[in-house]
Order: sequence, then structure tokens, then C-alpha cells
Amino acid sequence: HAKRQGRNQIAWFTPAMESELRFRGELEAGIRRGVSAGEFVPYYEKQIDLATGELVGFEMLARWMSPTLGKVGPDIFIPVAEEIGAIAELSESVIRQALRDARAWDPKLTLAVNISPVQLRDPWFAQKLLKLLVEANFPPHRLEIEITESSLHENVGLVRSMITSLKNQGIRVSLDDFGTGYSSLAQLRSLPFDRIKIDRSFISSMPESEENRTIVKSIVALGQGLGMPVTAEGVESEEVLAALGGYDGLKAQGYLYGHPQPADITLEGLRQLHMTLERKERAAAEAP
Ligand code: C2E
Ligand code: MG
Ligand code: MG
Ligand code: MG
Repeated sequence: HAKRQGRNQIAWFTPAMESELRFRGELEAGIRRGVSAGEFVPYYEKQIDLATGELVGFEMLARWMSPTLGKVGPDIFIPVAEEIGAIAELSESVIRQALRDARAWDPKLTLAVNISPVQLRDPWFAQKLLKLLVEANFPPHRLEIEITESSLHENVGLVRSMITSLKNQGIRVSLDDFGTGYSSLAQLRSLPFDRIKIDRSFISSMPESEENRTIVKSIVALGQGLGMPVTAEGVESEEVLAALGGYDGLKAQGYLYGHPQPADITLEGLRQLHMTLERKERAAAEAP
């Protein structure tokens, strides 16, 4: 900007830049305030076992209910929270709520939570997480941590020891958004992930793209070879589901099964599901 205006003129803030900065400042302040005010809440997205078609758990996705901005998604507030050093507190707040919510579900259902690379740099992270589990009286084997592939380049050694200590506590660890980062196969082999989640960008266009079908097929085979079962993210249609058919051990999630929902609607959905299953069982038992 400054350059275009000539060498001798130094252009500082244009009104647009200034209002952007003011917005950014308000965003930062709003996030800080919002964390203490409990404005960050968990939403839940269904995870389905494709072999049985059954619901096996939920992924928690944070939402900010801002009094001034309305409902804000994590792609906006997570990077800012990371920069201003508020991510640990924000994450703790939504995880605490999620553990409480998930205790009201069928105990067979798992809870997956996303963790920022910034949190992984904290040597006490595993300890802090365990404390939350103990406080909520939540069994570690029901919890799954998701780490994005792009957080791996930071410090693989540190990430590896973090994964190991989480796994020693019975917590499972998934590699999220696989295919969008730059992890090498050697790295992947050396990191003891329990599961690989294939990024939505490869899944949603499977029906149209032969290339993406090939990529997904290869990742599933890779996962099988490494003992890491695979989840397909972003399953939006029956066509995508059909393209995924025939692979063993797949889990799926996406808008085909519904959008992420808040705790009360999630719980109500589970009650409905439970009643439907009971009715079916009764009908089967009464059938001649
Ligand atoms: P993610 O973990 O890969 O989550 C999947 C994202 O894709 C979610 O977006 C979800 O709403 C969206 N999605 C799911 N199914 C579909 C589909 O069929 N079609 C399309 N178009 N989108 C689908 P969301 O909730 O906006 O979250 C974005 C990212 O923010 C997440 O990506 C995750 O990396 C991060 N995130 C969410 N909650 C937290 C959190 O509490 N802490 C941290 N550190 N990151 C979080
Ligand atoms: Mg995730
Ligand atoms: Mg993902
Ligand atoms: Mg993502």
C-alpha cells in the first residue's frame, strides 16, 4: 500500500485498515471476556461406524456465542485465541462442559475433542487433561484427542512423547485433516496414532473425482497397514457414502448425518434414537 503512493509519501492507516484493526482489537477483547463469561460452548457432530451404520460417538466443535457478533465459528476465534494466549483456557472451558454433557450419553459413545498445537507445547498438557477427566469422573477410554496434521511439523519429538503419555492414560489420539499437511510417511510410522481422519477436501468430491477416490483408497490401505483405522470427514451425500462403501473399518462423519448441534438437542436426539431402537426390539420379539 505504502509503496504505491510514492517514495516520499508514507501512507499509514487507511480507514479500511483502521477499522480492520479496531475489529481485530474488539475481537481479541471479546474473546478474552467471552472465555471468562462462559460464552464458548460445545457443539456435537455425529460419528458413524460404516460397517454397522451405528452411531459410535461425537466430535465436539467449539462455538462462540458472542453477545455482539452472534454465533462465531472456530476458524475465526481459534487462531486469535492462540495468538493472544487464551487458547488453553478456552479449550479447558469447552472440554469441561463436553465431559459433563457426554456423561449423560450412553457410556458406549466416545467423545472426540480438537487440540491446538499451542496446547501440545505445554509439557503439563497431559496432566491438565487428566485433571479434567478426574474432576468430571469421565473414563479416559471414552476420550479421543484430535491433532491436525499441520501441527506435526512444529516439534515431532515433543508431539510423540505427548501422544505416548496420553495413550498411557488410555486416551486415544487421532490425526486430523490428514492429507492437507506435510507429514512424511516416516513420521507417520513413528507416531503412535490410533486413527487417521481423511480431510473433507478428498472426501466430498469423491463421486466426481477419480483422483480423489484413488487418494482415499490409498490412505485407507496405508492406515490398515499401519494399524490405524480411518475416518472419512465431510460426508455430505449418499453418493459420497456409496463411494466409501466396501472399505473395512471405516467411520464417517458429515452433514449427511446432520449438522453439529448443541448439548440439549444432541441429548434429545439420543433419547429419540434409544426409543426407536427399543420399539424395534420389542416389535422383533413380538413378531411370530
Ligand atoms: P475439524 O476438526 O476438521 O472439524 C470438521 C469441520 O468441518 C467442522 O467445522 C465441521 O462443522 C465441518 N464439517 C463437518 N461435516 C461437514 C460436511 O459434511 N461438510 C462441510 N462443508 N463441513 C463439514 P467447524 O466446526 O467450523 O470447525 C473447524 C475447525 O476448528 C475444526 O476442524 C477444528 O480443527 C477446529 N476446532 C473446533 N473446535 C475446536 C476446539 O475446541 N479447539 C481447537 N483447538 N480447535 C477446534
Ligand atoms: Mg477434528
Ligand atoms: Mg478435520
Ligand atoms: Mg479442519
